[in-house]
Amino acid sequence: MAQDEVIMDKLVSLAKRRGFIFQSSEIYGGAGSVWDYGPLGIELKRNVKESWWSRMVLQREDVEGIDASILMHPRVWEASGHVEGFTDPLIECKACKLRFREDQLSESACGRKPSVGAGEDAQCELGAPRKFNLMFRTFMGPVETEGSVVYLRPETAQGSYVNFLNVQASARQKVPFGVAQIGKAFRNEITPGNFIFRTREFEQAEMQFFVEPGTDEEWFDVWLEDRLEWHRSLGVDPEKLRLHEHGPDELAHYAKKAVDIQYRFPFGWKELEGIHNRTDFDLGRHEEFSGKRMEYIDSGAGKRFLPFVVETAVGVDRTVLMLLADAYREEEVEGETRVVLSLAPRLAPLKAAVFPLVKKDGLPEIARGLVEELRRDAIPAFYDASGSIGRRYRRQDEAGTPWCITVDGQTNEDGSVTVRDRDTLEQIRVDASKLREWIRDQLAN
Ligand code: ATP
Repeated sequence: MAQDEVIMDKLVSLAKRRGFIFQSSEIYGGAGSVWDYGPLGIELKRNVKESWWSRMVLQREDVEGIDASILMHPRVWEASGHVEGFTDPLIECKACKLRFREDQLSESACGRKPSVGAGEDAQCELGAPRKFNLMFRTFMGPVETEGSVVYLRPETAQGSYVNFLNVQASARQKVPFGVAQIGKAFRNEITPGNFIFRTREFEQAEMQFFVEPGTDEEWFDVWLEDRLEWHRSLGVDPEKLRLHEHGPDELAHYAKKAVDIQYRFPFGWKELEGIHNRTDFDLGRHEEFSGKRMEYIDSGAGKRFLPFVVETAVGVDRTVLMLLADAYREEEVEGETRVVLSLAPRLAPLKAAVFPLVKKDGLPEIARGLVEELRRDAIPAFYDASGSIGRRYRRQDEAGTPWCITVDGQTNEDGSVTVRDRDTLEQIRVDASKLREWIRDQLAN
């Protein structure tokens, strides 16, 4: 088995063992490429989303947040071009009956022989490609007719375009400004895979920045740099981040320019986020299909125009996968292999685990008291009194918990506890009454 597959297998099993990510409907054999986040996974994912929201919305006056619904008027998807053009070339192998994306055949060909008795060098027997629309279709209301067809949104962006004027007027924004949202999107991918990298239900964090035509190229560069900086700020290896600009044959029909931020996953360089100059395509199409004017009127400057859009679109689940893959380490410590997730402390699901060294002398009560105090301050902490201290450390290393705190005999004498650092393994003593502040200080650094 190739090394990258081994790492992915290890990540998938760690994710299950520690409660990051489970296969959806596992007791029924799993559902096709959808995953559930467990107790630690949801906290990691929430921390990613909060980091994005804070940078993109809370820290800026020129971006407003919204939460649009998943189901939209079906005409939206005609205007956006998805009904007609959101297709992948589907190709079926007659030998194994598996289906592939024609443009990803090199990554996924089945390799089976076409029929029993075929020669040694026989290849899979691929049929002709056909267009396959990736949108999930369903029906609105009790009658399942063509007139009641609706789609599960394949991207969150359209919710921001159709609300452009609502947000602009209600928030009294002036162009340039952006509309941001985080939400679920659905794509009936032909070849999902690589764990949570490509799934059929996933979460996107997208921001549409509306600008005056002519200023779009400048804004594109600003946002590209800002987004790259965000990925670096998550603490991943900067050498594993790179940009990929789309050539003319890759550009989407609406885009004037597109640059992907890629990460080197164990299975290769892959897209994490796309930055797109979508011109006035979206607002123009919605104007045409809805019959409503979508122009921005700048009465002060006496101008009216259809804004251009610079979009930043990142997958939340892909970001989580990047963080897990980047943080995963196997190290030799005192003759034993330890598995550790070196997540940035502010992203780690648990910030601290508190252990009584022994279950007597009042140590469990002190340890529980510390956990309660930390949790009251919204610092997720975990009490663990079972097994040797070494085993307790190992469980927390795998969970990515940055600090393990041990309450021991000395605590009863001088009120101090041991704090062990997940990455350096260094141990220091901290006054138990200052532990909460100490952790807050570390998280702020
Ligand atoms: P890809 O080329 O990988 O199919 P895309 O270019 O179609 O992706 P966009 O439409 O630009 O993707 O969506 C923005 C982001 O949403 C992507 O960069 C990715 O992080 C995420 N994303 C898209 N499709 C999926 C999926 N099926 N599963 C998980 N995340 C996805």
